[in-house]
Amino acid sequence: MFKKILVANRGEIALRIQRACSELGIKAVMVYSEADRDAKYVKLAQEAVCIGPAPSALSYLNMPAIISAAEVTDAEAIHPGYGFLSENANFAERVEQSGFQFIGPTPENIRTMGDKVMAKQAMIKAGVPCVPGSEGELSDDAMTNKRIARAIGYPVIIKAAGGGGGRGMRVVHTEAALINAIQMTKAEAGAAFNNPAVYMEKFLQDPRHIEIQILADKYKNAVYLGERDCSMQRRHQKVIEESPAPGIPRKLIEKIGERCAAACKKIGYRGAGTFEFLYENGEFYFIEMNTRVQVEHPVTEFTTGIDIVKTQIMVAAGEKLPFTQRQIEMRGHSIECRINAEDAYKFTPSPGRVTMWHPPGGPGVRVDSHVYTNYFVPPNYDSMIGKIIVHGDTRDQALARMRTALNETVIEGIQTNIPLHRELMVDSKFMAGGTNIHYLEEWLAARAR
Ligand code: ADP
Repeated sequence: MFKKILVANRGEIALRIQRACSELGIKAVMVYSEADRDAKYVKLAQEAVCIGPAPSALSYLNMPAIISAAEVTDAEAIHPGYGFLSENANFAERVEQSGFQFIGPTPENIRTMGDKVMAKQAMIKAGVPCVPGSEGELSDDAMTNKRIARAIGYPVIIKAAGGGGGRGMRVVHTEAALINAIQMTKAEAGAAFNNPAVYMEKFLQDPRHIEIQILADKYKNAVYLGERDCSMQRRHQKVIEESPAPGIPRKLIEKIGERCAAACKKIGYRGAGTFEFLYENGEFYFIEMNTRVQVEHPVTEFTTGIDIVKTQIMVAAGEKLPFTQRQIEMRGHSIECRINAEDAYKFTPSPGRVTMWHPPGGPGVRVDSHVYTNYFVPPNYDSMIGKIIVHGDTRDQALARMRTALNETVIEGIQTNIPLHRELMVDSKFMAGGTNIHYLEEWLAARAR
């Protein structure tokens, strides 16, 4: 096992990884930007290194600064968390070339999965069902593109091969709008992701977003840890996640889970990963794979009792997965609400000083956050400041626990989206379960009227 790991991230996930290290008896070196000097995990750390000024480009995305921090502190491995450099194959490569273990899959696997066109091709080959679409990147030939769209059937969605974070997508309803939409998405993708390649997919009308968590080791052992329903989204960003997905037969989940585990074995995947699917009319359609730990991983930790972050570290150190598929049992129901520093209904960011932080507690309640009373939420980063996760024997019990937890939570000094979550937890359609990916935006639009 490693003696020392460098955590190349910030916020709640930095603290989460620090906790996993502590449990494993590993020293965690924390890095921080000048804006994060007062972070809880920096104060808790035995060793911490400032890697640059507040802007991420100069700190959390600064590869040489992070690698030198690992060198000066004699760390053996680097955990990238999520976001920032976590899905950057060049970073993974530089980490390994500098003699450190990257806690994640191989650079080759990250590269393939980071290109959605290549990822889809790999998944088709591995027997994972995909959204019907263009066989690879679109050319500049208007006639060919119109023919592809007609064959798929409108509406179609044009997506950037290098896209992420819900950006680089455009829905097209008519042939008249197709060519212009392709040009615009290409131009945007070139500017935003440094890769102008785009592809076309059938735009599914009312799907749910269902994802499968997997864990794999270097020895071609791979397991799936059930699913998460992440259909409650705004602007393609997840707001609430839960497991199991209401109303989807276990047999279907097992079938798709087995396909995902088999695909991992086939491509030689190691570490944690998530296969994201759209689910409509009883069918799963692969959209992309995330080659890292996800924000919503605690939902699965609650239902399976497996520590995903600890397992990531163990398999990176060359250990075998400590469980087989048959030993994995899903129990009860778990729900996560992402807590954002923003206006609950206008969504304008609300950074600043947290004058009062009183998180909830009690049976089946988990709070993952680096915030404390008097913490200053810097304006430089993502607005998510933590997560409240609950577990219950049933979905109804989990919902009741979430309501209680949200009512107990006191956050003053900044605005948060807690009022939104409180309303959603008593919304009859959400309570019934199985809402699709458009539900939250439609609900918000109706509320604003
Ligand atoms: P990103 O990497 O930016 O998160 P994804 O490919 O995972 O992009 O898609 C994000 C979201 O966009 C999905 O959860 C879904 O809401 C929507 N989406 C993507 N592809 C389709 C599609 N073919 N049909 C309908 N919605 C889609």
